[in-house]
Amino acid sequence: MTATQAPRGSYWITTFGCQMNKADSERMAGILESMGYSAADDEHGADLVLYNTCTIRDNAEQKVYSYLGRQAQRKRTNPNLTLVVAGCVAQQEGESLLRRVPELDLVMGPQHANRLDVLLAQVEQGQQVVATEEHHILEDITTARRDSTICGWVNVIYGCNERCTYCVVPSVRGREQSRLPQAIKLEMEGLAAQGFKEITLLGQNIDAYGRDLPGITPEGRRQHTLTDLLHHVHNVEGIERIRFATSHPRYFTERLIDACADLDKVCEHFHIPFQSGDDEVLRAMARGYTVDRYRRIIERIRERMPDASLSADVIVAFPGETDTQYRRTLELIEEIGFDQVNTAAYSPRPNTPAADWPNQLSEDVKVERLRELNALVEQKAKERSARYAGRTEQILVEGLNPKDPAQVMGRTRTNRLTFFPGTRADGSAIQAGELVDVVIEQVRAFSLSGKLA
Ligand code: SF4
Repeated sequence: MTATQAPRGSYWITTFGCQMNKADSERMAGILESMGYSAADDEHGADLVLYNTCTIRDNAEQKVYSYLGRQAQRKRTNPNLTLVVAGCVAQQEGESLLRRVPELDLVMGPQHANRLDVLLAQVEQGQQVVATEEHHILEDITTARRDSTICGWVNVIYGCNERCTYCVVPSVRGREQSRLPQAIKLEMEGLAAQGFKEITLLGQNIDAYGRDLPGITPEGRRQHTLTDLLHHVHNVEGIERIRFATSHPRYFTERLIDACADLDKVCEHFHIPFQSGDDEVLRAMARGYTVDRYRRIIERIRERMPDASLSADVIVAFPGETDTQYRRTLELIEEIGFDQVNTAAYSPRPNTPAADWPNQLSEDVKVERLRELNALVEQKAKERSARYAGRTEQILVEGLNPKDPAQVMGRTRTNRLTFFPGTRADGSAIQAGELVDVVIEQVRAFSLSGKLA
């Protein structure tokens, strides 16, 4: 789709869940705008309302139903309203969503995000559409409408072939499908031309990048890997920083660590979920690595990049997790000293093996473990932040501080959010997209403040 079409009314998108969903929402917004829709100011006045949903947390799912209830009511008096549910709840519930909310026009799984225009054309012909079948993802031909004009996301691999026993992603996002390096680079060049300065390459399991693409090198290894991709896209002019997520300890390689150390634009920040500090729990989760392997990855990163920041995801109160096993998770956090950890108490998701196991833990245990874990994560983050005090850090400015318009905000290469006054001594304003040196004066667990160097 290239030409912009006649105006069609306004759209509203609410996004739940992870970065993959946010990236999908941006692409769907791009499609809607090229179809002639414009962004609405208000959800309850929009002509098309799309909920891009997530099944990871139960409350996200419940929230979708309560939002939908309100829109369904609106549709009864305004039949021209188009109601769409996309994302993981749509994939999982499919037809049964239509039975529960008959006012819906379109239910579409994440693999169909690039086909929103085709599906809406069917809706316009009066059909109620469910698109949840396995679908080969077409190369992105749409232009995403991105919320930031400085930092963008670029999908490099869709889906996941792993079978972690707690995770719905493989069943809702399908098999792995890598994009070709040329297409990824082209998208990054387009973003650079629009003024983007930082790109995060995205995949549910980004270390799997390329294993579904053909090609073997003369040395006998796969031709397409994340490491090769980083080398391939590193020279995109205008892009100053490159990040990637989410890493999987099972496939994280030394070659990748060396590439991150050697390539200037690749930031020294690693998001590598470890999920549990106990080998038996890791086995029950079907993660495919041991705690020792995880430790070795971190050691190697710190050998090559001593100041690298580390973040992770962790789940506590997995079915059958004993107190001793849970304490090993705390010990690992204590030992490694993460800059940030996303924490969750286990929550059973439909159509996943662990949801049916009889050894589920009580809500009380979940709440207590999560509380203790969060306190430790914050304490460690504070300790890690302390190293920035008095240092000069390069910050990529993203925009105004929404809580204090006299300040601007941006991030260090290691991904710490940093606030500082938005005007120079000569009175000129600091603009989004600038790279500036900032002396750090105040450190908090998850953010920093300072002044221009
Ligand atoms: S690697 Fe495991 S947790 Fe991550 S998306 Fe794949 S199945 Fe889910």
